[in-house]
Amino acid sequence: MPEYTGPIPVPTPETRPFWDAAKRHALELPRCRACGRLHYFPRGVCPHCLSIDLAWERLSGKATLHTFTVVHRGQKGFPVPTPYVLAIVELAEGPRLMTTLVDVDPASVTIGMAVEVTFRDVSDTVALPLFRPAGAA
Ligand SMILES: [Zn+2]
Repeated sequence: MPEYTGPIPVPTPETRPFWDAAKRHALELPRCRACGRLHYFPRGVCPHCLSIDLAWERLSGKATLHTFTVVHRGQKGFPVPTPYVLAIVELAEGPRLMTTLVDVDPASVTIGMAVEVTFRDVSDTVALPLFRPAGAA
């Protein structure tokens, strides 16, 4: 497991299935059985229709880059090496999520580029879903 110096997420009851899936290197989000829509971040109530009838669903991991910034100066309490690409990606299935782009030269990043999920094991119990240019593996 490569060294990781950043914060480790602490799952809550609502986000536990998301982190359990990430540990299996799968991207899953809740879909509302009442209105049929996915949402991110995971929570106990559908943000679209307020139903609590939710079911977890495995996603493709494919996305496009919605927006990004290149971070050159780290923050206290977030001690990860710089520069890194902080990004919001739009999943093929719709929801947008904040993540980090990896395996990419920050100078080559462009809005709209195709990206795909990849996972980084950062502890014995947590893997982070990150994104990289599609087909980079
Ligand atoms: Zn709903």
